[in-house]
Amino acid sequence: MKSDEFSSYIPGLSIDEIREKYRVRNIIKLASNENPLGTSPLVRDTIKKYASFAFRYPRSGNIELVEEISKKLGLKKDNIVVGNGSDELIDLIIRLNSGTDRNIILFDPSFSIYELQAKLCGVEIKKIPLNRDFSFPLERVIEAIDKNTAIVFLTNPDNPSGYAVKKFVILDFLNHIPEDVLVVVDEAYVDFTEEIKEYSLIDQIYKFNNLVVLRTFSKAYGLAGLRLGFGVMSEKLADVLRKIKLPFSVNILAEKAAIMALKDIDFYNLTLETVKKGRDFLSKGLKDLDCYVYPSKGNFIMFKPPIDAEFVYKKLLKKGIIIRYLKSYNLPELLRVSIGNSRENKLFLDGLKEIIKGRIYYPPP
Ligand SMILES: *Cc1c(COP(=O)(O)O)cnc(C)c1O
Repeated sequence: MKSDEFSSYIPGLSIDEIREKYRVRNIIKLASNENPLGTSPLVRDTIKKYASFAFRYPRSGNIELVEEISKKLGLKKDNIVVGNGSDELIDLIIRLNSGTDRNIILFDPSFSIYELQAKLCGVEIKKIPLNRDFSFPLERVIEAIDKNTAIVFLTNPDNPSGYAVKKFVILDFLNHIPEDVLVVVDEAYVDFTEEIKEYSLIDQIYKFNNLVVLRTFSKAYGLAGLRLGFGVMSEKLADVLRKIKLPFSVNILAEKAAIMALKDIDFYNLTLETVKKGRDFLSKGLKDLDCYVYPSKGNFIMFKPPIDAEFVYKKLLKKGIIIRYLKSYNLPELLRVSIGNSRENKLFLDGLKEIIKGRIYYPPP
């Protein structure tokens, strides 16, 4: 295996990197769709409380956490698997279904982890280009499925566009998919849709044995740094995943923190409120600056600035504002900004305004 066959996941730049490079003191990071309110105070207390247990191995299977998730979502424990971020579950599901004769269907562009792990496993990747407005050409996925297709990945709401499709549309799609093809619906951002019930497929796993729904604690629950996600799926698949998974990938502090995060309904609701308000505010502000704004159901907004996107991105960095330049998604004209708190959103728009107004450009007719 040649190491130069692989390219690494390109994360949003970190605050330390920018501080060192540009020597700016106050940094605003709106690049990785993290929680705009930070870590919940109750979760912080919980982590402190359990700090002295750091020397212990966690209980294999993270039974306590699975129990909490099962209560919260009204699902059976046997259908739930927790992982070191949903990334771990994506990796395991791909590895379990790998083989050089098999293929995986992805939209182009899509969340890069799917492709990176598929490549590592030597699975053929079939890419279906998204429609121009970033909606899903689901009929083209159905056409692309062949006897060697192992998995189809859908991200709903989608990253980086923020596009989301309603549950009934995916249900119709599922009815056209052969039973031996796994459909993985990554719902990392589903919390931020106006009405979760209209979008989430989590209650459909009992109807479709080939459906896997992924959720994460990294976004709405504010635990990105602790690495915790979970998947909901048929008992049979859940059982296999538990067997092949490294036993202690979810650590004790992450488990305790997640249990508290599930109970801290006030923080969760305030997060959703902050994101919805911020999304409207940023969306309007971006449009006022002649940006093209893609409608978003996530905690981020993808947009096309009226001047060169890379130029805007770099100028923002110099001001200590980190957003995501989407060149790595093959979208060099577009940028993605995470919804921050009201202060961050305002500073971002102010900075962007300075950059755009400072440049002569011809507005579209
Ligand atoms: C952020 C994100 C996740 C979450 O990954 P974790 O490993 O749980 O942090 C999953 N899928 C998509 C599409 C994401 O953008």
